[in-house]
Amino acid sequence: MATSGKSAAVSHVGKIRANNQDSGYAGTQLFVVADGMGGHAGGDVASAIALKRIIEADRVFASADDAQFALQSSLTAANTMLAETVFEHPELTGMGTTVSAILRSGDKIAIAHIGDSRIYLLRDGQLKQITADHTFVQRLVDSGRITPEEAAVHPRRSVLMRVLGDVDAAPEIDTTVYDLKPGDRWLLCSDGLSSYVSDDRIEAVLKANPGARDAGDRLVKESLDQGAPDNVTVVVVDVDETWDSASVPPVIVGSAALPLTFEGESGRRPLRLPALLLHPLKSTQQEDSHFEPESDEYLDELILEDRRRARNRRIGWLVGVALIVIAIILALFLGYRWTQTLYYVGANGQSVAIYRGIQQNIGPFSLHSVYENKAIKLSDLPSYTRKTVQDTISAKDLKDAERIIERLSDAAK
Ligand code: CA
Repeated sequence: MATSGKSAAVSHVGKIRANNQDSGYAGTQLFVVADGMGGHAGGDVASAIALKRIIEADRVFASADDAQFALQSSLTAANTMLAETVFEHPELTGMGTTVSAILRSGDKIAIAHIGDSRIYLLRDGQLKQITADHTFVQRLVDSGRITPEEAAVHPRRSVLMRVLGDVDAAPEIDTTVYDLKPGDRWLLCSDGLSSYVSDDRIEAVLKANPGARDAGDRLVKESLDQGAPDNVTVVVVDVDETWDSASVPPVIVGSAALPLTFEGESGRRPLRLPALLLHPLKSTQQEDSHFEPESDEYLDELILEDRRRARNRRIGWLVGVALIVIAIILALFLGYRWTQTLYYVGANGQSVAIYRGIQQNIGPFSLHSVYENKAIKLSDLPSYTRKTVQDTISAKDLKDAERIIERLSDAAK
């Protein structure tokens, strides 16, 4: 964690992961976030190797086009280095890393991006995501197969379509050039931030914290407050007229800030069980989250599978609701049956009657009915007894009700 006045890089292992597979860099002209993947060994190596290769491009370029070319070349070179590393260390097969980088040249900024780390620009009080996620779900959204809302809860939302690694010798890297404006604030982050903290919240934090370091720290804290299931890395860069950061030493954070370890798990932090237990429902993101679908048919198959799963979930839900409704109806029926074993004596018009049920109604449903009208007139009863009958006299059972009628009959004039 460190700052260079106008920029800051902050990285945190999070609350669940055993090691930090992210790497971050805040230099003089160049700023980078890389998020590694590849099982229990490899992700941290991948992001560190890539970042260390890419930061060789932290130089002054004659033009933005030159900077863009240099950035693209350094990402391609990093990809080659990763493939070579896997060749020498086959146990690292499948490792890869995202890279999102900005390289300033004069009043422009060159951007290179691959994977699902993100670059945002806060300009004139509005936060805009500059990069597109190279994720499976984003591809499905782009091709109109699913909606953005479906994508947000998609079971494969962390699956990446493109990364640097040992899979593709010439990975497709997005590059572009942006004009700089004084007052701009750039944010680079790993998905440990953007998957758990909303864009609105990110925007609010960036606006509320004028210092780059404060903003970076605060954003990491936002992710920690959400349980931080993943490593989280943010780089905040403020643009002013001078961009006088050349005097400030560059800062490396995360995995790339540590010595590279290739062998097994020795020297790494042990998995912190208490944190896992605190978040039993938040599964750690799947480690092997990179795949290259061979064809559109395969994509369609996956979509069908997801739809099937969603339909099964819906059916399960409907069956659950139906069972609850049946249970309620059964309970009401049994309750009604029970009330119909009860009797009481009360007034029916000007006469006395035995009623079956209880006096209450449930909405429009009456829970009682006249069982038998008796020949005793209310007007023949002494006034106190008449009042008692009008208030109803409950009986233990039908025989008890008949006994009450006999007593009333005796009391009648
Ligand atoms: Ca991540």
